[in-house]
Amino acid sequence: MAQSRFKSSFIGDRLALAKFNPNLVCHSWQELETYTNNCQACGLHKSRSQVVAGRHNGNREADLLIIGEAPGRVEDERGLAFVGDSGKLLDIMLDSVGLESWYLTNVVRCRPLGNRTLFETPRNGLSRNPTKAECQSCWGFLQSEIALVKPLAILVLGKVAARTLLGTAAKFEKLMRTKHQYFEYPVWVAYHPASTDRA
Ligand code: SF4
Repeated sequence: MAQSRFKSSFIGDRLALAKFNPNLVCHSWQELETYTNNCQACGLHKSRSQVVAGRHNGNREADLLIIGEAPGRVEDERGLAFVGDSGKLLDIMLDSVGLESWYLTNVVRCRPLGNRTLFETPRNGLSRNPTKAECQSCWGFLQSEIALVKPLAILVLGKVAARTLLGTAAKFEKLMRTKHQYFEYPVWVAYHPASTDRA
């Protein structure tokens, strides 16, 4: 795997990260794809065009796993995470800091109806984050994805993603000022690039 500036200045050996063993629902990428594509565990399946898969830049076992909250309209249309305007902005940010190995995904894999970013015109008259129940429904998939990616570190974007992963209702600003730990994975919290008003 290519050595990125991020990796070399960060933390140690991926081989040391071997303790993560939550109650996984998927033990392979194939299982994750099959199970999620057929999932009807929460109401979001009714309005989706398709389930939105994670996106990476060459290797699914990436150094940095970035987790947002939910797909938007463009992601719903294309079936890939962070391919709308916010994703383009994120790509530029990742490129600008020299990150060579990343994987992008969301807490929920189906678009919450009416979800929008600052770049989108609201449709259906609603704009909302995924509910706690929806996040919990998709939680097993996210845990499985974390275990499959085996990142060196995790960056969560926005309040919903941070609170879901870290299991806390703490203030978002406080979460951003602290380094966290999720099993063996160090976790950082930042604003979502496209919707800082959600923080
Ligand atoms: S958001 Fe997750 S839990 Fe809900 S239907 Fe989609 S894949 Fe299933």
